[in-house]
Order: sequence, then structure tokens, then C-alpha cells
Amino acid sequence: MKVGVLGGGALGLAAALRLAQAGHQVTLIEREPQLGGLAAGFKVGPTSLEKFYHHIFKTDTTIIRFIQELGLSDRLLWGQPNTSTFSNGRIVSLGRIGDLLKLPLLDPLDRTRFLAGMAILKAIPDERVFRGWTAARWMPRLMGRRVYDVMWEPVLRGKFGARAEQIAMSWLWSRVHERSLRLGYVRGGFQLMYDAFGERIRALGGTVLLETAAEQITTRDSHVHIQTQTGEHHVVDRLLVTLPTRLFARMAPEVPADWLQRYPGPEHYGAHVLILGLDRQLLPGVYWLNINDRDLPFLALVEHTNFLPAADYGGEHLVYLGNYLPMDHALFSASDADILDSFLPAVARIRPDFNPGWLTTHWVFRAPFAQPIVTTNYMESLPPHGTPLPGVYLANMAHVYPQDRGQNYSLRLGERMARMILADPAPRTA
Ligand SMILES: Cc1cc2nc3c(=O)[nH]c(=O)nc-3n(C[C@H](O)[C@H](O)[C@H](O)COP(=O)(O)OP(=O)(O)OC[C@H]3O[C@@H](n4cnc5c(N)ncnc54)[C@H](O)[C@@H]3O)c2cc1C
Repeated sequence: MKVGVLGGGALGLAAALRLAQAGHQVTLIEREPQLGGLAAGFKVGPTSLEKFYHHIFKTDTTIIRFIQELGLSDRLLWGQPNTSTFSNGRIVSLGRIGDLLKLPLLDPLDRTRFLAGMAILKAIPDERVFRGWTAARWMPRLMGRRVYDVMWEPVLRGKFGARAEQIAMSWLWSRVHERSLRLGYVRGGFQLMYDAFGERIRALGGTVLLETAAEQITTRDSHVHIQTQTGEHHVVDRLLVTLPTRLFARMAPEVPADWLQRYPGPEHYGAHVLILGLDRQLLPGVYWLNINDRDLPFLALVEHTNFLPAADYGGEHLVYLGNYLPMDHALFSASDADILDSFLPAVARIRPDFNPGWLTTHWVFRAPFAQPIVTTNYMESLPPHGTPLPGVYLANMAHVYPQDRGQNYSLRLGERMARMILADPAPRTA
């Protein structure tokens, strides 16, 4: 078969590789100049750095398997860099059991409820227990109102802002249940893995097109036709679309209006980061800092070079200041100068002797459709993978549930989609 794949992120690449390995002629079409989607990198000194902070967990078995298969095992580095929270103007470590046992943010009874609640969430094997429940209702019952307000509400607000109260308990359960304390990273950047995918697919006879945005999808004579913005026309027997559902519907005029009404897909937030390049370490010993104090203009501070050595990046110390926000939020159109003006004073609140003169460089990255909003009726709006167009399949980040979306789950879904397409060799009819 000739199989097309739209989107060269984790999902599209995993599917394309498996389909190419099964002997099919694959054409992968990616809009950006490089592969990797939301996990793609850019060069800092000799190394690639993700535009948005990325690490993996020990429980991310699919990506670990792919890293091995693509010959990058010796690059996979594991560690337990510190997680802390910035609350009431001070940094409090959450990194180790010992920190949690003497957590100053909670009194002894609440600390016990917190730890017991964590053990219960780890022990509950299945998300079905939580169906229909929001985290905002379930967690205070399990751990008490104060624990919820101090420990969990900031996590939910950090990802979902004003929608925090509507988030499904299944999503939060999965974050606690399925994540390890140890974190992994591909030294040299996850871009190495995505580039290796591209090379493997090409080596198997596949075509990987970069800087090629798909514009329109139509079906004729049992074939799928893809028109690109660069004026190319590709004809395939099967097509896997890995773009957000709304983008797919916009480019496929044959999709009936009632299908889109029935399956609008979840709402999404966009992601925004300012990355600071500094001439020195910012927060010694802290990798990940949740920002609980609401008046700061960002929700997470991630000092990447407290996990990886700054020497990998030509000596630059790298700090992400991140936000998830509605896609029409003013921050997405703010100038770099305005962003620095509002963010740097906030950095000085976290580290009072911070001096903007330490800043050697900065980057701003913005991505729409970066975080599906996982409400309790989330699954109802998700389209099935088979679309109304014969031979056209749809799978995207939003189909990852109940887990928080991540490279591991997109890779896993990509493999599943390849199996689904392989099991459907005859042309489908509408
Ligand atoms: C701030 C942030 C932090 C994250 N942290 C982590 C983390 O620590 N660990 C982790 O594992 N994951 C993390 N993730 C999630 C991870 O990046 C995603 O889950 C994963 O990369 C999704 O891959 P995907 O292929 O499903 O989607 P995408 O990466 O979105 O891929 C879709 C692809 O389609 C392309 N495309 C769009 N329109 C067109 C078009 N018209 N024609 C052709 N191509 C098109 C896009 O350019 C993109 O490459 C994070 C994400 C964000 C935003």
C-alpha cells in the first residue's frame, strides 16, 4: 500500500516507521523544517534543546523501547533532579520522602493524610473508580481540603488555569499512579530520536517531507488525495492524520458537518515558554519549581541545566519559564521585550539577588493545541479513529487518556494506528 502520514511528531513517526517496516510505501508530510512536533528542539551551542521542557519517566516503556531500537540507549540518562514548589514567597522541596515528612506547608496531620492518600492512589489499579468525578471533588475527600489547596489545586491550576475545577480525577490519578520519581533524558536532546526516526523511515524507502504543510484532503476512486501548501499533490491508499481534530476537519471538506458537531474533540490550551540563557546557575539544586503564588506571571520554572550539565550547551545555563493558557491569551501576541519586562522581576522574587545582567540570551516559543483540557466528559467528544472519509484515519494527542499527554503515549498510539491500518488492507467504503 501507499500510506500517507500527516504530522512528523512522535505519533506520526512511530506509525510511519512501523508501516515502513511492514513493507508499505510511506510518505510522511511535516509542516515544520524539522521532525519532533511539540518535542522538537533547536540548537544551543553544540546541542539540541527542546523548545518546551521535556523529560520521561521510568514507566514510559514505549519511548524507552524506541530509544533502544533507534540506537540511542547510551544517550539515555536517568536521575532524580529536585522538584520544589514556590509558595508564600519561599522555595519548599518536595523531592524526597524525607522532604514530604517534614513539609512546612502542612501540619503533621495533613502530612499524614497526604502521604496516605498518595499510597491509596498508587494502589488503586484502574481509573474507572473515578469516572464522572472531578479531581476538585475527589481529592479533598481523600486528603482533606487543606492538602488539596496546598498540594493539588496549584498542580491543576498550573496546567488548566481557570478550568482547574473541571478536570477529571482519572487524569490526576494517572499522574500519581503511573509516574516514577526518576526522570530520563536523551543527552543531546530528544531531537536525536526524531532525526533517527526520519533516517530509518528513509532507509526503508519511505519519503519524509519537511516544510510541507498539508492543505486539503479529499477522496476519489478509492484513493486519498493530499494537496499541500507548496503545491504538491500526493495520492495514497491510506492516510493517517495526526493533527488536532479541528485542523483535520478544516482541511477535509468532505467531512460532514454533523460529524464535527458530534466529535468536536476536547478544547485545548496553548503552551508558552520564555527560555533564559544565563551566565550562571539560577536556583542551585532545583530542577522543577511549581509556582503556587498566583501573582507571578508564569506557572513553572524549569532549570534544565540542573539536570543536564551546562557544558553540554556551551556553558549556557538554561531556565524555562512556562505557561499553559487559552490560545487567544495576550501573552501569545506579546513582544519579547514585554515578556521580559514582566517575567524578570518575577524571577527576582524567587531569587532576590537575581540581576538581569546575568541574562546572555533568551528565546520565546509558542504552540497552539498543546494541552487538551481533560474534563469529566472528555471521552464523549473524542472522534473514533476511523473517519467518515474512506481510508482516512485520525489519531492525535487528544486520544491519549487518562494519562497526561506525553511522547511515550503518542508513540504507543502511533504503533496502535499502524496495526489498525495493517489490519485494514482492502479499500474501505464510506
Ligand atoms: C510545554 C510542554 C511540555 C511537555 N513536557 C513533556 C515531557 O516532559 N515529557 C513528554 O514526554 N512529553 C511532554 N510534552 C508532550 C509531548 O511534547 C507531546 O505529547 C508529543 O510530542 C505529542 O506528539 P504528537 O505527534 O502526538 O503531536 P505533535 O507533536 O503536536 O505533532 C503533530 C505534528 O503535526 C505537524 N503539523 C501540523 N499541521 C500540519 C500540516 N498542516 N501539515 C503537516 N504537518 C502538520 C506539526 O508541526 C507537528 O509536528 C510536553 C508538551 C508541552 C507543550
